[in-house]
Amino acid sequence: LMQIYRPLNFIGFVYREIRQGLTDIEEMFKLLDQNPEIEDKPDARPIAISGPVVRFENVFFHYDPDRPILKGIDFEVPAGKTVAVVGPSGAGKSTISRLLYRFYDVTGGRITIDGQDVRDVTQTSLRAAIGMVPQDTVLFNDTIAYNIGYGRPGASEEEIREAARMAQVGPFIESLPKGYETEVGERGLKLSGGEKQRVAIARTILKSPAILILDEATSALDTKTERDIQSALDTVAANRTTVVIAHRLSTVVNADEILVLRDGQIAERGRHEDLLTLGGLYAQMWSRQREASEAEEQLRRAAEDD
Ligand code: ATP
Repeated sequence: LMQIYRPLNFIGFVYREIRQGLTDIEEMFKLLDQNPEIEDKPDARPIAISGPVVRFENVFFHYDPDRPILKGIDFEVPAGKTVAVVGPSGAGKSTISRLLYRFYDVTGGRITIDGQDVRDVTQTSLRAAIGMVPQDTVLFNDTIAYNIGYGRPGASEEEIREAARMAQVGPFIESLPKGYETEVGERGLKLSGGEKQRVAIARTILKSPAILILDEATSALDTKTERDIQSALDTVAANRTTVVIAHRLSTVVNADEILVLRDGQIAERGRHEDLLTLGGLYAQMWSRQREASEAEEQLRRAAEDD
């Protein structure tokens, strides 16, 4: 029997290695796709972080020289604080998160973390220090446990469950017949946008990065999902230096500073109440959003009554 078992076991091993390899290659291609020409300097050092202060200093950026996207962006996220970036679609909000993660290099000015220019440190150490919860998380074709555990290789089952619980996705996973062993991704169970985002948050909670970038999904969420996601985000952002690309009022009201981006520049900045008092672009955006969400809520109630 051992004669059969050994080769089978070996095939299983090879299969797992290949599967692991494939998902990593997929991940790598995703990165390559976004940053073909970003390279470490020959003398790049690993980033050293004691107080994770993020600074954008007079940052300019374009994807295409004919079309400037960011035109002199200046801001600081003190260690442990949260800065929210809001503004019209196409204003360059997500670009800010891509530059911090160094998918692209700035074309003018600089970005520093704890005083170190992101271009002077190794990309591996930079990305290990930053947790990114993107708008649309792509899950690996593997189990939910794998997808969460990816945040910290070697994490125990208990740690994975704890992260899922903190990300407000634990009860959902436990309600599935196969629980944490449920296969997800293209060939497995399809998760909703809100569920996927909470899996990504659980992964980030496990990774426990010094710096966090949250890119909120624009898609409409029902009130309960929004509340769950908000509470998951509050957990992961607590005492972490956080940049949030925000689309929802619930995220920005508590931010330490809000930047209103328009045409690649910061048009308004301050805390929620100050910006409302200012009565400018921010005040307009939020009164419009409030109307839209109230209308949605009425529609939902009407549908429930039917
Ligand atoms: P939204 O709220 O709709 O997500 P945003 O403010 O986050 O928008 P960005 O994604 O930062 O906007 O994009 C800013 C501008 O840069 C857009 O006009 C977009 O078309 C352009 N852009 C984004 N990515 C690329 C790219 N890879 N190549 C060329 N142009 C790009």
